Amino acid sequence: MPHPISTLPLFRDQCYINGQWINSTQTIAVHNPTTGEQIGTIPMLSGGDIKTAITHAHTAQKSWAKTTAKHRATVLKKWHDLILQNQNELATIITAEMGKPTAESLTEIINGASYIEWYAEESKRLYGNIIPPHAQGQRSLVIRQPIGVVGAITPWNFPNGMITRKVAPALSAGCTVVLKPAPATPYSALALAELAHQAGIPAGVLNVVTGDAQTIGAELCTNPQVRKITFTGSTAVGKILLKQSADTVKKVSLELGGNAPSIVFEDADLNTAVDNIMASKFRNNGQTCVCTNRIYVHDSIAENFTNKLKHAVEKLQVGDPTNPTTTQGCLINKTAMERVHNLVQSAIAQGANCITGGNPHPLGGSFYQPTILTNVTHTMDIANTEIFAPVACIYTYTTDEQVIAYANNTPYGLSAYVYTQNMPRMWHMAEALEYGIVGINTGNTSSETIPFGGIKESGMGREGSKYGIEDFTEIKYICMGGLELEK
Ligand code: NAP
Repeated sequence: MPHPISTLPLFRDQCYINGQWINSTQTIAVHNPTTGEQIGTIPMLSGGDIKTAITHAHTAQKSWAKTTAKHRATVLKKWHDLILQNQNELATIITAEMGKPTAESLTEIINGASYIEWYAEESKRLYGNIIPPHAQGQRSLVIRQPIGVVGAITPWNFPNGMITRKVAPALSAGCTVVLKPAPATPYSALALAELAHQAGIPAGVLNVVTGDAQTIGAELCTNPQVRKITFTGSTAVGKILLKQSADTVKKVSLELGGNAPSIVFEDADLNTAVDNIMASKFRNNGQTCVCTNRIYVHDSIAENFTNKLKHAVEKLQVGDPTNPTTTQGCLINKTAMERVHNLVQSAIAQGANCITGGNPHPLGGSFYQPTILTNVTHTMDIANTEIFAPVACIYTYTTDEQVIAYANNTPYGLSAYVYTQNMPRMWHMAEALEYGIVGINTGNTSSETIPFGGIKESGMGREGSKYGIEDFTEIKYICMGGLELEK
C-alpha cells in the first residue's frame, strides 16, 4: 500500500544530479513520524557519486556565472512562482515527513519562497566599488564574484525554508550548489529540485544528494572544487564541518543551535509577553533554533505571568497535524521524545516544579505533552542544552544586571527576547545581550529582509537580507596602472 504522499506529482525518491534523477542500489527508509508508516526510500549514494555531483556543479558554475543577473533573476522568479503554485502539495509533503501542522507547513512554504523572490532581485545589486587612487596614473576597483561551488547541508526542522535561504542567494550570486538535506525530510528537498528543473534552472546548477552524512560531509568539506560550505544544524556537527573545511581553506557559514532567553521585566505588558513567548516557545512544537529556551521573569510578577502562561499552554491542541485545529504535532522521532522526557524528569528530581504536562502524550509515539517547569535553576541540565521540545522553563531574577549575566552565561548566542515598555531599558538590553538577534516585545523576528544568524557557538555568517548574499561572493581588488594621458 503506497503512502499517500508517494502518489503526489512532485514526489521524487531519487537524487538529482546534473539535471538527471539518479538511483542507487542501497537505499535509506523514510518514515512519517506521526504514524510511523514508511513513506518511501531515498538513495544511499557513495562517496564517488558525491564527487561526480561536485564535478558537474563545478562545470555548470562556469557558464551559470557568465549569465546576467537579470537572467538569473528571471529563472529564480519562475522557481518562486512554481513553489507558490504548488504550495499545498509542498506543505503536505512537509507535514508527512516531519509532523508539523499543515498551517505551519504552508507558512514555511510561503516564507521559504520569499527568500527566492528576495534574492532573485538582490543579484542585480551586487555592486562593486571604485576607491580613490593611491598613486598617480592608477585606478583601484573592487568587484564581487561568485565564490564557486557551494556545499549545503540542512536540518529536518524546516525542510523547505532552510534550503531556500541557502540555495537562493547562492544561485543568485552565480554559484552552483550540491545540497544534502536531512534524511528524515528529503522529499521536500527533492520536490524543490523538481520545481527548479521545471523553472529552467540548468543542469548541474542545483544538485540534491542523499546518503551517509559523514561520507557526504567529508567529500563536500575536503573536495577542493567546493569553495564554500553552508550548514544549518547542531553546534556539534558545525564544529566537525569547520574543522574538515580547514585544509582546503573554504569559506564556511554556520547556522547552529541556540539557548534563547526571553526576559520579562516588571514593566512588561504581560499579555504581549505571554502571546509572544507562546509563539517563540511552542512554534514547530519547540523545534526551532530560535525557540525560547529560558524564560526569565522578574520575581515581582512571576506568579501572575506563570498563571497566564499556564492558561495559554493548556489551550494547545496536540494531535494529528493534518487536522486544522491541531497546534502541536509530534516530535521528530521517539529518541527526541525520550531525550526531553529525561531532561524534564532530571529537572524535577533536582527541585523544579511541573505545573502542567511533564509526560509523554497519551497519543503515544513521539508525542509529548506541552509542559511548564517553574523553579528551574542554572545547575540543571535543561538550562544548558537546547530543549527542542514543547517544554517551557521559568526562572526568576531580581535586578537588570543579574538577568543580563544569566542570559549571557551560555556558549550560544543566536536569539534573545526582551519584554519591557521602558525605552532606555530596551536599548540597554539590546546592546548588552550577546546574541545575533534581539527581539523586543516580539517573539517573531524572522524574514527574508533581515540578517538572521548567531554569534559565539551559534555560528557565523548571516542568511537573508543584503548581507546574506555576500557570503556567496569573493571580493576582488583590481589595480589598473599606466592611466596617465601622454603629454
Ligand atoms: P544535526 O544533527 O546537526 O543535522 C543537521 C544536518 O547535518 C543533517 O542533514 C545531518 O544529516 C547532517 N550531519 C550530521 N552529521 C554530519 C557530518 N558528520 N557531516 C556532514 N553532515 C552531517 O541537526 P538536526 O538535529 O538535524 O537539526 C537541529 C539542530 O539544527 C538544532 O541544533 C537547531 O538549533 C539547529 N538549527 C539551527 C538553525 C539556525 O538558523 N541557526 C536553524 C534550524 C536548526 P544526518 O541526519 O544524516 O546525520
